[in-house]
This record gives sequence, structure tokens and C-alpha cells, in this order.
Amino acid sequence: MARILIVEDEADIAMVLERDLRVEGYETAIARDGEEALRRSAGERWDLILLDVMLPRKDGFEVCREIRRARIKTRIILLTARTQEAEKVLGLELGADDYVTKPFSPRELRARIKAVLRRDEDQAGGVYRFGDCEVDFDRGEVRHGGRPVEATPLEFKLLAAFIRQRGKVLSRDQLIEAAWGPGIFVTERAVDYHIINLRRKIERLPAEPRYLRSVRGLGYRFDG
Ligand code: CA
Repeated sequence: MARILIVEDEADIAMVLERDLRVEGYETAIARDGEEALRRSAGERWDLILLDVMLPRKDGFEVCREIRRARIKTRIILLTARTQEAEKVLGLELGADDYVTKPFSPRELRARIKAVLRRDEDQAGGVYRFGDCEVDFDRGEVRHGGRPVEATPLEFKLLAAFIRQRGKVLSRDQLIEAAWGPGIFVTERAVDYHIINLRRKIERLPAEPRYLRSVRGLGYRFDG
């Protein structure tokens, strides 16, 4: 079962979280401040860190940044009471995998946890299926209707990024970072061009995409 480190200084909230997650079958432990969180993130193996932003000694943003700086890749969900969009984005740019705004419902949190843990299962290889397509991560192959499709390495990387973050809007910048790499200059039109090509390979009706959707003004979303 997955191991979750709960980082929360408020004892009652931490206890409720721990009780809920244990009922779900997760193994859990609690860290009560930012420094303890850093120590335990580095010293033990976790599948996920639930990281509150408002913490004594070091806040959750700082902890998140330092964990990533130390090249620890454990999944992180930020628990934030701050609702400003900029701060959410900041959290994600710092390397968090997702965020949940307080107050949250236990059900919403459970769903987010499952979604984030599922990304690791996908990355561990195997075959991802949607519609009549199969993406074979072990072989680096895409099949449509049982037949291999010629996908370029770039298209494969785009598709992998979409599958990892399915259901979520990805901006063109996020797609560039995922497929071309950080700091590479690519025009937005180039991204659109590759998406169009990808649609031809995975959609039954590329002009009316069912899976690779455009989200006006924001980017693209994969509903697979
Ligand atoms: Ca707190």
C-alpha cells in the first residue's frame, strides 16, 4: 500500500487526515513543521507527501522547493488555504503535483490522492488504453485500431504528458516543457501543428476531436 507523509502543524486536522487515509488503507505518518518534513522526505521512502502551506519554521512552498532541489521526486499535493490563482501556480511551478484548497471535503482529497498516485503507475510502464488506441510505454509505440501508428518521438512525449495529466488543461508552455524540454523556445503555432498531427493519428474524426480537446484561451485537455 502507498505510504503518505502528512505535513500539518494543526494536530486536529492532522489526526482527521490520518484517520481518513488509514481507513482507505494507506500507511501514514505525520510531520509537524517544515524542517521535520524535509528531514523525513529525505530519510524515508514515501509515495506521496500531503504538504500544508501554512507551517511553522518553513512554509510548504519553501519545503516543496527544497525537496525538488534535493532531486527527491516523491509526489506532492499542497494543502493551501490561500486561494489566489498566482499562488496556486507558484506551488505547481515549485514542483508540486497538485493542490487542494482548504477547506476541502475528504472525498475530494481522496480523489486527488488517487489521481496523483495513478500517475506513477502509468509511468512505471505498461499499456494505456483509450477508445480504440493503445499507448505502449514499454515499447514506445502507439496503436490505433490494433495497428501501429507512426508517431514521432515528440508526439509520443506529448501523448505521455497528456496521459499523465489527463482531465487537466495543459497550457502550450507546459506542453513545450514536457515534450521539448525546459527553456527551449518553441512557438505556440508549432505546438498546435504537432497537436493536429497527433489528432490525425489517435482520433477517429480529427476535425472533431473526442480525446485531444482544445480549451479556448488556455491550451489543451486530454479526456481519455
Ligand atoms: Ca497549518
